[in-house]
Amino acid sequence: MSATIDLTSADARPRPSAPAPAPAKRSLLGLSREALGAALVEAGVPARQAKMRVQQLWHWLYVRGVSDISEMANVSRDLRTLLDEKFEIARPEIVEEQISVDGTRKWLFRFPARGAGRPVEIETVYIPEEGRGTLCVSSQVGCTLTCTFCHTGTQRLVRNLEPGEIVSQLLTARARLGDFPDAATPQGAIVPSEGRLVSNVVMMGMGEPLYNYDNVKSALGVVSDGDGLALSRRRITLSTSGVVPMIPRTGEEMGVMLAISLHAVTDELRDVLVPINKKYPLNELMAACRAYPGLSNARRITFEYVMLKGVNDSLADARQLVRLLHGIPAKINLIPFNPWPGTDYECSDWDQIERFAELVNQAGYASPIRTPRGRDIFAACGQLKSESERMKKGDRLAMEAAIAV
Ligand code: SAH
Ligand code: SF4
Repeated sequence: MSATIDLTSADARPRPSAPAPAPAKRSLLGLSREALGAALVEAGVPARQAKMRVQQLWHWLYVRGVSDISEMANVSRDLRTLLDEKFEIARPEIVEEQISVDGTRKWLFRFPARGAGRPVEIETVYIPEEGRGTLCVSSQVGCTLTCTFCHTGTQRLVRNLEPGEIVSQLLTARARLGDFPDAATPQGAIVPSEGRLVSNVVMMGMGEPLYNYDNVKSALGVVSDGDGLALSRRRITLSTSGVVPMIPRTGEEMGVMLAISLHAVTDELRDVLVPINKKYPLNELMAACRAYPGLSNARRITFEYVMLKGVNDSLADARQLVRLLHGIPAKINLIPFNPWPGTDYECSDWDQIERFAELVNQAGYASPIRTPRGRDIFAACGQLKSESERMKKGDRLAMEAAIAV
């Protein structure tokens, strides 16, 4: 049995028509060191102290993982009071936590309203594996794109997430998992990513990260900062549906690993499955991949390919896939389609997925079949959806009956 924990009492949930109070204070989370220093100076911290204060705050926020300014023990009381007046370091509220039979956890996080907007909810998923743990992070609330096999694609874009909201998914997950080093860790001590519960981050949650480029870039800069959360850029993978003009900058400026949601090997089919293909067709996408900075056999691009029965899973498709990727250091990730209420697609038969994988393997490409994780709690790829459009209980029960876990 999977477990669901509702962490918010019904009374505490905002009523749909209630006016949303805007947070009065600026969040310090997700700011670059420079931006953090500037914010402190603007708030009245003497400029000559800024660098040292940034160092202190950085340690408390990202090494110790405190969630309250009052916990910053080596910061003077006066400065803590000043910080408290002007800033906040709040993390999202955990509205719900679901734990799958396979150990996958899905959280429904709620961020407070910004400006005239409403509070927003997003989903973040933790996938524990042998010797590593991956956090699947969202970049937007909903998505502007409408990939026909993706549940998130049926939820219109509500808004982009701020850098702090992206970083705080990692902070909240680590805190909830007990993954911050013990409070006695001295300043400057870095816990190696190998020893952590969250050792990898994938930008594969809700939204198209390259349509929220600046915020994702700032957030990943914080996540990979060596004196803070210190996740190596090689342990961070950004998945895009194929926003071609932003791909070179992603490599140059973020330097993270790239994953491409390919899913089809002809423009005709990709136009239907991944409609952004009409704007940036396969030849342009492949050219951007070939030119991706830093590409080598040790730094390959992952091509994600969802297995849809009778749609894109023939052996002719597999052969064309091999031709398409010729010359690109690539891994192919075959993803069994994860169903959701209302979809007409079905997952390919297991035998067919294996035949497809074998053909691709024989051509010299690693093509692991991604084991569906957390299907019983709808945490698998493409099943994320939030807010008012969350799955109705009846649909959820029907899905549970339909999915063999
Ligand atoms: N928007 C980005 C990242 C989020 S989606 C992108 O599209 O790349 C993460 C991955 O899950 C993508 O490869 C996406 O195509 C895939 N996916 C979406 N819906 C799915 C489903 N129902 N079953 C399996 N994979 C799915
Ligand atoms: Fe958006 Fe990615 Fe889903 Fe396409 S697959 S609708 S880009 S989240």
